[in-house]
Amino acid sequence: MNFPESLEKRWRGKRYNSFNRVLRDRFDARVYKIGLRLDFTCPNRDGKVAVGGCIYCNNASHTPGDYLPRTSVTAQLEQGAVAIQKRHRAEKFIAYFQSYTNTYAASAKLAKLYREALGIPGIVGISIATRPDCLPEDTLDLLAELSKQTYLWLELGLESMYDRTLTWVNRGHGLSDFVDAVKRVKERDLRICTHLILGFPGESRDEMLATSDLLNQLGIDGVKLHNLHVIKNTPLEKLYQQGQVPLFSRDEYVELVVDFLERLSPDIIVHRLSGETYRAITVAPQWSIDKIGVHNAIFKRLEGRDTWQGRVFSIDQMNAPVQTVSGGAEGVAL
Ligand code: SF4
Repeated sequence: MNFPESLEKRWRGKRYNSFNRVLRDRFDARVYKIGLRLDFTCPNRDGKVAVGGCIYCNNASHTPGDYLPRTSVTAQLEQGAVAIQKRHRAEKFIAYFQSYTNTYAASAKLAKLYREALGIPGIVGISIATRPDCLPEDTLDLLAELSKQTYLWLELGLESMYDRTLTWVNRGHGLSDFVDAVKRVKERDLRICTHLILGFPGESRDEMLATSDLLNQLGIDGVKLHNLHVIKNTPLEKLYQQGQVPLFSRDEYVELVVDFLERLSPDIIVHRLSGETYRAITVAPQWSIDKIGVHNAIFKRLEGRDTWQGRVFSIDQMNAPVQTVSGGAEGVAL
């Protein structure tokens, strides 16, 4: 076995730098995220950037009724904590501003919401999901201030580093917006977790793997990997039903993730290895509903290949210029 003992020890037997392990080490407790759904919307749906949203986004959950005021941050966190305590014997929590674009409001409103979360007993950190084009300077200053008081992650959707794909999925931003946001976030010394989707049509396997190099070069702190999956009532579902969206088999995805991890810097924390999908709204692939099964297959393949995160990572990559790539989505119906 070639897996370095130092990494085995540092990662507690796992072959990648897992977020769960990081939380366990930092807080010496079982820490779970509680997802929050507030009355944010998204500039990619309300017309500021685009309408209709990303083609994979579940717009059925964005019907006007969905904009009705939800329960408060406090109520959602208290309810979530009880449920997760029961299910996982969780001891501490991270408030996860998850649905929609959680920095798409005036900074005074954001400050109130974030501070409300941090005032709840048991909340030891905060995680905020957003888009690269929704980070004005005053919002970043607020996050920088909060990060001095708590364990803070900014979750930034990139999804693909290829502008032709971002156009195809109607993201409403390009790679250059992401690179610019990362630069400004890093100036404040904030932690960034990047969301990626692997499996977009029109991207080769090598192109998907090259995204790991981009994350290394940009000094990203964490990554969430999702397999492309099709959700009911989305434009992607229509394209899928027309036969225009080939999806990975589970084995193909597992092999790709292992290759991706090999190239990824061992310092990048892996928050997620596959998409979170629910049976009731999933069209395909059915295998991705069994998240634990996918994770176990990845662990087994890492061991089977006697490989690990960062095995082929080279520090030289860090000095390479960041490539921004654009072009048409060849072979993909728009
Ligand atoms: S940016 Fe997020 S919330 Fe907005 S349309 Fe895309 S996936 Fe949906």
